[in-house]
Amino acid sequence: MPKKVLVIEDNQQNMYLTTFMLERRGYQVLQAWDGEQGIQTATRAIPDLILLDIQLPEMDGYAVASTLKADPRLATVPIVAVTSYAMAGDRERILASGCNGYIEKPINPETFLAQIEQFLAPGGPGEA
Ligand code: MN
Repeated sequence: MPKKVLVIEDNQQNMYLTTFMLERRGYQVLQAWDGEQGIQTATRAIPDLILLDIQLPEMDGYAVASTLKADPRLATVPIVAVTSYAMAGDRERILASGCNGYIEKPINPETFLAQIEQFLAPGGPGEA
């Protein structure tokens, strides 16, 4: 079974690029376009990794991360924020909300997979 990565992202272009790179690497990608949908999908599917946009409509990424981490079934699932907010205070806020790390937008296709795979348990995408 390939590892499951949940992508919570409201921007179509970012979603497309992220999904393309992950699927090409062999991951199963679950897409959610807002926080509510992301939480529902995470609860149902228990992914191996969650990529979380911070700037989302309605519920922002900070609220989504706190909600996910409060669920015991999801508490150990790594959450990586993907954000264009790069200020020092934002980084602290991202980590305080429960995210395990962050990568900055725009995504760099050459380093993206290596960056997110630091947060996955050892083993390739095919070895869930
Ligand atoms: Mn966004």
